[in-house]
Amino acid sequence: MPVDALGAFREEVRGWLEANCPPEMRTGNRGEDDICWGGRNWRFQSEAQRLWLERMAARGWTVPLWPKEYGGGGLSRDEEKVLREEMRRINARSPLESFGIWMLGPALLQFGSEAQKREHLPKIARGEIRWCQGYSEPNAGSDLASLQTRAEDCGDHYLVNGQKVWTSYADKADWIFCLVRTDPAAPKHKGISFLLFDMASPGVSTKPILLISGKSPFCETFFDDVKVPKENLVGELNRGWDIAKYLLTHEREMIGGGARGLLGTRALGEIAAQMIGTDADGRLADPFLRADIARAEIDTWAFALTLERMKDEAKAGQGVGAKSAMLKYFGTELNKRRYELMMTAGGSDALEWEGERSNGGSLAREWLRTKGNSIEGGTSEVMLGIIAKNILELPGS
Ligand SMILES: Cc1cc2nc3c(=O)[nH]c(=O)nc-3n(C[C@H](O)[C@H](O)[C@H](O)COP(=O)(O)OP(=O)(O)OC[C@H]3O[C@@H](n4cnc5c(N)ncnc54)[C@H](O)[C@@H]3O)c2cc1C
Repeated sequence: MPVDALGAFREEVRGWLEANCPPEMRTGNRGEDDICWGGRNWRFQSEAQRLWLERMAARGWTVPLWPKEYGGGGLSRDEEKVLREEMRRINARSPLESFGIWMLGPALLQFGSEAQKREHLPKIARGEIRWCQGYSEPNAGSDLASLQTRAEDCGDHYLVNGQKVWTSYADKADWIFCLVRTDPAAPKHKGISFLLFDMASPGVSTKPILLISGKSPFCETFFDDVKVPKENLVGELNRGWDIAKYLLTHEREMIGGGARGLLGTRALGEIAAQMIGTDADGRLADPFLRADIARAEIDTWAFALTLERMKDEAKAGQGVGAKSAMLKYFGTELNKRRYELMMTAGGSDALEWEGERSNGGSLAREWLRTKGNSIEGGTSEVMLGIIAKNILELPGS
């Protein structure tokens, strides 16, 4: 897009945000409680949150890059960047977060039938249906293709039986995108299919798993003779592994890319200075911590630039493919480092679980949550394996 046209678009976006972003939504996402996940059972935390989602969805800006006919904004990459920059400028919260936006949407755009796109994508864009991801099983995590949940062909429907585990927000989600085995006799990658179904279907049940952070963000999920209409199969029967892998690249890009958001937050040095104080020259009082923080901040900037470059290089509307393993690995390890540094700066105060100091225990909880970053969506070890094999093409890997 010519620079002039982009400039005009920026003006338009700025004016629109000024008029439509409620002041309460200009605080940035300060933590899990500020996130709007949407869905049938979603309770808005405030009228401002509801309005913000409604207005952004009406413009298609909850999913700015998706085509307009599926509820998206139809923006180019350059326009989307402008929208993001203008939102960051006023510290606007994201109007909607969802597994539908990050993972299922891109997979449906690539592999879904026209009817599936028209049915599911607009509801994701408007935050009407919340999705969860049924991939991992008790004996199929890193080795995902070993999954055993069965879907049996019963004429006009499939009958699903089995168990998933670590299903994030399964107890809150409306629908699930699920990997099932449809040909037990085939080699393991070739007998898997990709199914969508309503979590309110008879035979679906969930059991929350309690974590060290005191929360239960994920569940064991059980399927007991769940009837799934045949039209809910995405792509071809027994070819679900291709879709599963494509979706994972988007998941990894999203998880790793989360570190980009760190640029919009307060500088680490500033936070640490508040916790441990500064010397006579106004520098962080602890020189070792100062060096570690400087290294982490520089890495964050370098990572954000790398992320933008990779996205610019990717084909329009596509993800970054196998490079998502690099983003996932570096972004999540960086996020863990950042929280380790904040905990170091905070000392024993940072361990406080509840109360006034250290943000009422949220720092310790967030620090513990970051431990999961390098596990969810594929562990760091597995990412290193992918980088060695698919990107560096190392011998013997
Ligand atoms: C916060 C969080 C949210 C999650 N949400 C979901 C969700 O919504 N839906 C879902 O389906 N799953 C979800 N998961 C599960 C996640 O995808 C798995 O935990 C992950 O893939 C690892 O599998 P596993 O736990 O079975 O560990 P394992 O595969 O048993 O791995 C155990 C250890 O062995 C190492 N290892 C295994 N294989 C290799 C290898 N080939 N090379 C080197 N090292 C290896 C691993 O790195 C790890 O350290 C979530 C996990 C977390 C932590």
